[in-house]
Amino acid sequence: MKKIIYIDMDDVLCDFTGARLKALEANPAIQYPQSQYDFFRKLNPIQDAISSINYLLQQPEFEVYILTAPSVHNPLCYTEKRLWVEDHLGFDMINRLIISPNKGLNLGDYLIDDHDTGRGQENFNGQLLKFGSPEFPNWISILTFFKNKYHL
Ligand SMILES: [Mg+2]
Repeated sequence: MKKIIYIDMDDVLCDFTGARLKALEANPAIQYPQSQYDFFRKLNPIQDAISSINYLLQQPEFEVYILTAPSVHNPLCYTEKRLWVEDHLGFDMINRLIISPNKGLNLGDYLIDDHDTGRGQENFNGQLLKFGSPEFPNWISILTFFKNKYHL
């Protein structure tokens, strides 16, 4: 049985916080830059995120999905997240994009997320790898975990 890995988008695959802070600095009058047109599509990838997800996708041991919660105040984000995935990971990856406000409903083995609560992460039945934590500060440490555990 393949191991199912879910990967969060904001601040795991794409630099949401960096773009938000930059936009707030440039235009403090716009309090929620993440509600602006094209905000989500233009996010930069997090360091090593694209090569790392592509590496995981190539391993026959794993089935990899993107699992992201929507910014419900911004209806554009549903479309822009889909476009971001195509821009950076290609069309086929869209079949592995899940936009859900409750990540606890998804069955699987691993969830790579920068939050452990708030969007159902606390109810996820598998193991949460908290991105940005001392244990998993970056993608290198995430890949090291999988490489060691599955002898890749
Ligand atoms: Mg996140």
